[in-house]
Amino acid sequence: MAKEALLIVDMLNDFVREGAPLEVPETRKIIPAIKEEIGEARRAGRPVIYVCDAHAPDDKEFSRFGWPAHAVRNTEGAQVIEELKPQPGDIIVEKTSYSGFHNTRLGDVLKDLGVDSLRLTGCVTHICIMFIAFEAVLRDYDVTVPEDAVAALGREDHVAALRIMENVLGVKII
Ligand code: ZN
Repeated sequence: MAKEALLIVDMLNDFVREGAPLEVPETRKIIPAIKEEIGEARRAGRPVIYVCDAHAPDDKEFSRFGWPAHAVRNTEGAQVIEELKPQPGDIIVEKTSYSGFHNTRLGDVLKDLGVDSLRLTGCVTHICIMFIAFEAVLRDYDVTVPEDAVAALGREDHVAALRIMENVLGVKII
């Protein structure tokens, strides 16, 4: 039987709050949809996994891609927003790049849970969400993306990323 895990990607203060260093304003609109996803997953006993940037203060991601410093490990900015706060039993996986799997424990966590499909929510649609979708599909996971539960920096990138995930990766967009 299929076993699905819910992933909540980078719904951190430094992406979501007004005036945050890497503010993605659209993330504030997807909070209710993610809340619902979390509620459903918890009720069904499905794993809830937060995948969160946790950068070093001088992380090479900042200089290499020109992003302002964000989500520095152990700062307030790197915390999941209050509205979607993890509960006991949820899992938090730290990452240091666009990737959910590279240099993280996500692969092991999913194997231990016996999960075979992933439901991706959070931000940014055309960056970490798409990156993780590519990685997950290469690792044979079925991937679903509820489009009202992911956010991008702009509408065009959002729509393009959903189209690419659907057409190239066979991701189920719902
Ligand atoms: Zn980052």
